[in-house]
Amino acid sequence: MTQINDNFLKLPGSYLFSEIARRVSAYTQQHPEAKMIRLGIGDVTRPLVPAVIQAMHAAVDEMGTAEGFHGYGPEQGYDFLRSAIAQHDYAARGVDISPEEIFVSDGAKSDCGNIGDIFGTDNVVAVCDPVYPVYVDANAMAGRAGEYQAELGRWSKLVYMPCLEENGFAPKIPQEKVDMIYLCFPNNPTGTVATREQLKAWVDYANANQAVILFDSAYEAFITQEDVPHTIFEIEGARTCAIEFRSFSKTAGFTGTRCAYTVVPMELERGGAKLNALWNRRQCTKFNGVPYVIQRAAAAVYTDEGRKQTRETIAYYQNNAKVIREGLTQAGLTCFGGVNAPYIWLKTPDGVGSWEFFDRLLQEANVVTTPGAGFGPSGEGYIRLTAFGDADATKEAVERIKTMLSK
Ligand code: PLP
Repeated sequence: MTQINDNFLKLPGSYLFSEIARRVSAYTQQHPEAKMIRLGIGDVTRPLVPAVIQAMHAAVDEMGTAEGFHGYGPEQGYDFLRSAIAQHDYAARGVDISPEEIFVSDGAKSDCGNIGDIFGTDNVVAVCDPVYPVYVDANAMAGRAGEYQAELGRWSKLVYMPCLEENGFAPKIPQEKVDMIYLCFPNNPTGTVATREQLKAWVDYANANQAVILFDSAYEAFITQEDVPHTIFEIEGARTCAIEFRSFSKTAGFTGTRCAYTVVPMELERGGAKLNALWNRRQCTKFNGVPYVIQRAAAAVYTDEGRKQTRETIAYYQNNAKVIREGLTQAGLTCFGGVNAPYIWLKTPDGVGSWEFFDRLLQEANVVTTPGAGFGPSGEGYIRLTAFGDADATKEAVERIKTMLSK
């Protein structure tokens, strides 16, 4: 009989967004007149910028000519895009990353999950708590997470690093030895960032213990403060211990267009093997590259026009973040994040539970949010709000929450 990967059977249902949808639908059925404002799911809403659209159109036209037609491309991505990434995302910040270290893909989500293919199943995995759920579930599927302990909301073999108000939402280096360390800064869901010193401590730990840091910087474009590192490779020593994931999803509104990349430095070796070579082998075997048209669209983000236009879109979302943060702070709530990230991590008032406050916001303000508890046990007592909505709707949502709290 065919055996299945029974790690899949251990996965709890994807409770968070289905439960949110269930509660929203139950409420709107009873209150069809309610005008819901959704500040829950982290998807963008602004259209692709003109420079991207023009590049896509031009690439589509090229594909319709004998000379300009492109079939299978290089699995790692076209040179024009890998070079543009190396130049603009790294060299411009004084960081030396060569195009051969960059692997273009269809998403940071896929890469964060697929990277596990190159690592053994006995590695001890450390994740932040709260956490972007992909890191946890992908390792559970691969058999690295042990058993799911429903009563605790955690997996037996994963090492959870609580990110709390007390530690500024920065994970502490765990007591036990860990091998694969997922870090995400600017963070989803807390919207907070790590300092250079904090990242340096992780890099030193990883080098000393032959661990690997899996650094997700999908929200890098939202950093506003000068001294916040944009890439783990700004930290000395990272080239021998870190892999970085980046995405055009939030930087340039590509959530539905799909393009991202992963950086695996040439110096990074474990067990006598170059991880760049292993990832290259993995991608060449299981992935056939990102469409030419999409890679042209992504490259347009790095043109002068593209940069200017995408900066405007990001500024639009950053302003929403400011509106939420300032409005809710004025209303007496405690907010974190939202300065270098599109997420605001709101502490529920009077210690009420995440789901209870979610229900209150849903029913009394008609605002949909995401309960922090859905991102891990340490998210209890928080709500995540996103800045990716329409500016007027965001202002209206903040006013409604203020009114709700003043009652
Ligand atoms: N990484 C983090 C931390 C995210 O929050 C998300 C999307 O929500 C992703 C990666 C996914 O990026 P992509 O759209 O490139 O798959």
